[in-house]
Amino acid sequence: MCLNEKNYRGVNFCLRCGNKMKLFEDEEGKIRSRCTKCGWTYYKNPIPASACVILNEKDQIVVIKRKIEPQIGSWALPSGYIEINQTPAQCAIDEMEEETNLQGEIVKNLGYFSEFSPLYEKVISFGFLMKIIGGQLQAGDDAAEARFVGFDELPEIAFPSHRKFIEKVRKELE
Ligand SMILES: [Zn+2]
Repeated sequence: MCLNEKNYRGVNFCLRCGNKMKLFEDEEGKIRSRCTKCGWTYYKNPIPASACVILNEKDQIVVIKRKIEPQIGSWALPSGYIEINQTPAQCAIDEMEEETNLQGEIVKNLGYFSEFSPLYEKVISFGFLMKIIGGQLQAGDDAAEARFVGFDELPEIAFPSHRKFIEKVRKELE
């Protein structure tokens, strides 16, 4: 799949020096956007995120009602974008605590799933099955509500990646 000018819509000025960006074709024939003054290149990459399937001893999982975009007001797994100083696993542990007030530990990696994002064009979500090791469930700053639900009483889940991770855990429990 080739990159084209549409991938760089809105990329007009250099983040490093503020001068104009211009499209060019690199040695591999890929379209890139580069600063006309300092040469800094903007690479268009998917944004990485981590999502948590938090399972309790009753085989219920935590869903949260989103308080921020994208999909504000919809139900989803606790999740967030990976910061530069976090691994995907550390991001899952931190997001779990921030959004649910529960301390967690990773049981297993559920793989990854890449999907469209209205904000960033493409997001890669890493899924983690999490075990609760402390805390009481309570909606954190990024969540309007947080609750435990059984697999047969799940609300509609906003993101295809989250649905995939939930389905994987559900199948493994059967
Ligand atoms: Zn520049």
